[in-house]
Amino acid sequence: MNKNDLSAFQLKSNLRKALKENQFVLYYQPKINTETGTIIGVEALIRWIHPEKGMINPATFISLAEESDFILLLGEWILNKACNQIKEWEKLNIKIPIAINVSIKQLLKQDFATLVSKKLKEFKISSEYLEIEITESVLSSNESLVRDAVSKLRNMGIKVSIDDFGTGYASFMYLKQFQADTIKIDQSFISHLPTSQVDTAIVSAIITLASELGINVIAEGVETQEQFNFLKDKGCSQLQGYLYSKPLPPNEILLLLRETEGR
Ligand code: C2E
Ligand code: CA
Ligand code: CA
Ligand code: CA
Repeated sequence: MNKNDLSAFQLKSNLRKALKENQFVLYYQPKINTETGTIIGVEALIRWIHPEKGMINPATFISLAEESDFILLLGEWILNKACNQIKEWEKLNIKIPIAINVSIKQLLKQDFATLVSKKLKEFKISSEYLEIEITESVLSSNESLVRDAVSKLRNMGIKVSIDDFGTGYASFMYLKQFQADTIKIDQSFISHLPTSQVDTAIVSAIITLASELGINVIAEGVETQEQFNFLKDKGCSQLQGYLYSKPLPPNEILLLLRETEGR
């Protein structure tokens, strides 16, 4: 094993312990309506607060979790935590949806829709407050399983987006495979707007595609006013990114939500 493999191995064997010892935290990043500038929802993004290594980003450990069935355990924890947060905010009269990231493996390996349905009942949450972003790090071999899971979720009233659209294995295929509510344009297409000719063409095309399909479109990773202006001009109705806010821990997102309440 080389040094990288070794540290990956160490992290991987630490995941279960980390879950038991409550080392994971959900951060929240607002989603903005491009026209009005108001917060229309938040995305939950997981962080691992390691006792020695400090904060570890999900890019490092989600793929490790996906290599084993640990992602199922972690996914359940995330779902639970998000439901808890929805409840907390409801008490404070803050009513916005939380979107959680769900890897395709969770849809394939368990009856995710039934799990969600149980959670909503357990927490007494209306389905409009929980949303799903489907991330695709693996090529899904079982189309009908994915289709069934998504249609079950949508029939329950849960909105589903295709995350990182344009990257990975099956973005366009997903559009044929299941009905999505939203396409999320990956930040790799946003970061070189508006100068890159290729990226402006791709982003414009995705926005047109979404509009022709009658589905929502959101851009992630919006960092500059120029990117914002371009997206607004092209009719991208929602966006997310450092320009507005980084992902924030629960206490800080609460301040932001309160500050902007009723705007
Ligand atoms: P993603 O779903 O595409 O999330 C967007 C990533 O871009 C997040 O990184 C976010 O912090 C970052 N980001 C947001 N705005 C900006 C910006 O303006 N500029 C830049 N440079 N970056 C921005 P993060 O939090 O490190 O998450 C990375 C990926 O890990 C996520 O990508 C998602 O695929 C995965 N992930 C995160 N949380 C979860 C989770 O709870 N479950 C699962 N299955 N995957 C997760
Ligand atoms: Ca996402
Ligand atoms: Ca993603
Ligand atoms: Ca992305």
